[in-house]
Amino acid sequence: MAVEYNKRTHRCASLRSADVGQTVTLAGWVNSYRDHGGMVFIDLRDHEGITQCKFNPQTDPKAHEIARALRNEDVIAIRGDVATRGDNINPKLPTGEVEVEIREVDLLAKSEPVPFEVSDHVEASEELRLKYRYLDMRRPKMQKILRLRHKLAKTIRDFFDEEGFVEIETPCLTKSTPEGARDYLVPSRVQPGNFFALPQSPQIFKQLFMIAGFDRYAQIVRCFRDEDLRGNRQPEFTQLDMEMAFVRRDEVMDVVDKCVSRIFRNVLEIDLKLPLPRMSYFEAMDRFGVDRPDTRFGLELQDITEIAKKTEFSIFQKAIEAGGIVKCIVVPGGESLTRKVTDGLAEEVKGIGGGGMPITKITAKDGGVACTTGVAKFVQPVVDELCKATGAKAGDAIVFMPGSYRDVCKYLHHLRTRLAEITCVIPENCWDILWVVDFPLVDWDEDEKRWNSMHHPFTAPMEEDVHLMDSDPGKVRSEAYDLVLNGEEMAGGSVRIHRREVQKKVFELLNISEEEAKLRFTHLMDALTYGAPPHGGIAFGLDRWVMKVAGVDSIREVIAYPKTQRAVCPLTDAPSLIDSKQLQELGIDLRPEVKAKLEDKP
Ligand code: ASP
Repeated sequence: MAVEYNKRTHRCASLRSADVGQTVTLAGWVNSYRDHGGMVFIDLRDHEGITQCKFNPQTDPKAHEIARALRNEDVIAIRGDVATRGDNINPKLPTGEVEVEIREVDLLAKSEPVPFEVSDHVEASEELRLKYRYLDMRRPKMQKILRLRHKLAKTIRDFFDEEGFVEIETPCLTKSTPEGARDYLVPSRVQPGNFFALPQSPQIFKQLFMIAGFDRYAQIVRCFRDEDLRGNRQPEFTQLDMEMAFVRRDEVMDVVDKCVSRIFRNVLEIDLKLPLPRMSYFEAMDRFGVDRPDTRFGLELQDITEIAKKTEFSIFQKAIEAGGIVKCIVVPGGESLTRKVTDGLAEEVKGIGGGGMPITKITAKDGGVACTTGVAKFVQPVVDELCKATGAKAGDAIVFMPGSYRDVCKYLHHLRTRLAEITCVIPENCWDILWVVDFPLVDWDEDEKRWNSMHHPFTAPMEEDVHLMDSDPGKVRSEAYDLVLNGEEMAGGSVRIHRREVQKKVFELLNISEEEAKLRFTHLMDALTYGAPPHGGIAFGLDRWVMKVAGVDSIREVIAYPKTQRAVCPLTDAPSLIDSKQLQELGIDLRPEVKAKLEDKP
């Protein structure tokens, strides 16, 4: 009689000493095998864990014979009796006190030798792991991450359901929505020459749900952005997208606070203190140089323009004369930074467009302090004032940055992050979470000489700033808010414009012509004429949340079938060429230079 693999009595992590004597049926993959002369041991693995199986030629010569031929990743089903391992306990396994003495085994499927070992100590390249993702996902770590992802998604879904939100799907074949990235396009066969865009977000659709009277909507939804895949980006990613009607920003932020607190409780068993703290955009920029501040550590930016004016340091003077500022970061204990490290940091600043990193170190001298190294000779005359103003003391280093407000923020943010890593001041297991609010509505693009929206063009300006829209648009604040965790943006949203005239005005400010607005957003503009309630919402990047709670650094680790950094899928080999007939049907012809390039390739 065959082993009834369809009637497994246990999973591979369940058996304990208390089960000794029971007859059990298990099934799974051969994780490893050991042939000890007479006795064969197989570690049987499923998604829950490992159970040791013992094949004794005396008990059943046939089963023993099959076991001798088993290799890693063969699929088997076994029936046998749970026995104690006596003195040979394996404390590393939850099932380590027992083994199953096999009476019967069935080989359900043989495996070819695998391209890499199915183990958490995998050394294979990422490309190879992704090509054989189904093997990669057999590893306990991937199982754990993807199950955690499920738990997180379920926590979020349950939460919004309880709060009265409805999940409604929005289309994938749609029109461009302006989230600032390039669209993925899909050609239409029935309307040759016309293209759908895959949604960068369901932004307009969710606003239309509010106009349709749904009141509260939340969807876990796939979004597509054709961006260069620097670091942790994926062309398709998942977002929790929500929208609420008849609210101001406080109500949206309150719901998100509760959701985040639920996530921390359910997934991490951490109790957060609510409400989550809030910081204005300008405070974040002034203190940290960035709108997603990492508040787990100090190294804050300090303005020393007035002191810098008193020095004879020409690069300080030049920056100030050009209307700029001088800021600094005090690095506690920074005296021990080596020349190699500080030169390396200066090079990094140059690499992102800056001029370098003026630095000096502070030492104790004659009962007071003195500057040594770097730009010491320029700042020595103001050293006492500098130390008093910034709190620097002997043993510290001071890193300076002269320039425009924007540049100083950019370079000092970079340096602050790097200095924190180098001097190891980032506490472990710390979750610092806060809201950044009061963003400017628009940002001046010096290259293009135009205003861009900081969030997206549907974000409402603050009522009390609307009068500045014509005279001083850069001063208008918006009703946008971002949720920041340990220096990363985890969610972003806003209260939206619900009046057509205001939306028109914002389009004008953004230099979106009436024709362009009509072409791209008629459906929204029309809808705004039929009674739109005040509304607002937010979206959280689900992949980023999984990365955070799973403690992994790569977004590719939290997505079952991700693309590589070249935006390809090694498993399916997508994207791939299509035949000329399909192209013809779509009314598409490849450009000669593209064809030539393809012909060049073997
Ligand atoms: N649509 C925005 C985004 O995808 C989120 C929002 O404003 O609600 O970033």
